[in-house]
Amino acid sequence: MSPHQIQTAGQQSSRRSWAEPWKIKMVEPLRMIGRAERERALSDAGFNTFLLRSDDVYIDLLTDSGTGAMSDRQWAGMMLGDESYAGSRNFYHLEAAIQEYYGYRHIVPTHQGRGAEHLISQVAITEGQHVPGNMYFTTTRVHQELAGGVFVDVIIDEAHDPEHLHPFKGNIDLAKLEALIERVGADNIAYVSVAGTVNMAGGQPVSMANIKDVRALCTLHGIRLFLDATRMVENAFFIQEREPGYADTPIAAILKEFCSHTDGAWMSAKKDNLANIGGWLAVNDEGLYEELRNLVVVYEGLHTYGGLAGRDMEALAIGITECVQDDYVRSRIGQVRYLGDLLVDWGIPIVLPIGGHAIFLDARRFYPHLAQDHFPAQTLAAELYLDSGIRSMERGIASAGRDPVTGEHQYPKLELTRLTIPRRVYTQAHMDVTAESIKAVFDGRGEVRGLRMVHEPKYLRFFQCRFERLGG
Ligand SMILES: *Cc1c(COP(=O)(O)O)cnc(C)c1O
Repeated sequence: MSPHQIQTAGQQSSRRSWAEPWKIKMVEPLRMIGRAERERALSDAGFNTFLLRSDDVYIDLLTDSGTGAMSDRQWAGMMLGDESYAGSRNFYHLEAAIQEYYGYRHIVPTHQGRGAEHLISQVAITEGQHVPGNMYFTTTRVHQELAGGVFVDVIIDEAHDPEHLHPFKGNIDLAKLEALIERVGADNIAYVSVAGTVNMAGGQPVSMANIKDVRALCTLHGIRLFLDATRMVENAFFIQEREPGYADTPIAAILKEFCSHTDGAWMSAKKDNLANIGGWLAVNDEGLYEELRNLVVVYEGLHTYGGLAGRDMEALAIGITECVQDDYVRSRIGQVRYLGDLLVDWGIPIVLPIGGHAIFLDARRFYPHLAQDHFPAQTLAAELYLDSGIRSMERGIASAGRDPVTGEHQYPKLELTRLTIPRRVYTQAHMDVTAESIKAVFDGRGEVRGLRMVHEPKYLRFFQCRFERLGG
């Protein structure tokens, strides 16, 4: 346990390291291109790391989405794909795995998480209704807004402070939620949207006590509660580590208990579930299921494949059983912490506590001389790529987009550069190389000027916008 983490009772003082519960059977070569080539690649990409070619990237920490390594069992499962249009056996395996580990009754597969978000938003939101959530996620919010919903952030204030050591910074602030219900009325709330390990807050968890309280409040007012389960397994690890009474409960049991307090969930299976593609939606209510099962046919595919090949559903079903194993989750989060601890030791400003899937560099403190309009977090991602070919991404003003009413930039309190660790892909040595490059960029921070946005798409602009260096 690192000194920067929240201490919990019963930790031994003798050193016992974690190690990955797997060994490597196949390798994929990596190559670092030279500095001049990186300069050219970055400028061709408009200083947006999403627009780089992966061949020009050395260590790719852009995202943990679909970038994980599948196990030999998952690859074997790919050969068992039943590509029947209707009623594929792999769908029933997937359905059984979700029912067993997440506990929901009805399952709708989708091509990825946003497909599920689209369906639930269209079915569960009426034009003008409010959708309170624990901070926002980009694709989640855009689908809620496209369905006519008004997103309201009800996360606790501590989540917006990158240095606050609250153990459950993903929690919903009950007072904020109650005030919203009071103000607009329960009928004008579509549902409460709670996400496990809040990505935009730095991968911060929600406690079991909090979800129980939110459930009670929702029940009192007859409001539905849906979970973004994308990184809920990682959330369960933090409950096991930090919440009294859960130290001896397996992660799988914590996951199922947490889900039992919600009415349904959507999932990007490209994250926790160790698949390269896939998503799902799960609900308990029969009537809601009937509507979703109907709508999936319009946008994704028949309700027994939802845009996925049979083989993908099989790999996903197996991935679900693998991702809930305690030793796996411990090594996954252990690797993230290893990188974070090195950076903290070197005085580099990151979001604390260290979250589940990524390290978030605090670009405000990294580049205190840059105004937020000059995209400090985007600038930092560009500088890191230039130094070593490491790809990270912006989670700040560019990701926050514009206010749908005023058209002005939204100015998020957090201006972060995210280094996301793919699951079961990189080694500890890759983490060392990454930390050393960040240190080099930190040492040269004084000379850096910011960026200016020169191309801005209408939706989810951070994916495709382009920049130029300020001052030539
Ligand atoms: C990635 C993600 C999504 C969207 O899923 P995709 O599979 O990328 O479409 C939704 N919510 C969260 C929290 C995510 O991280």
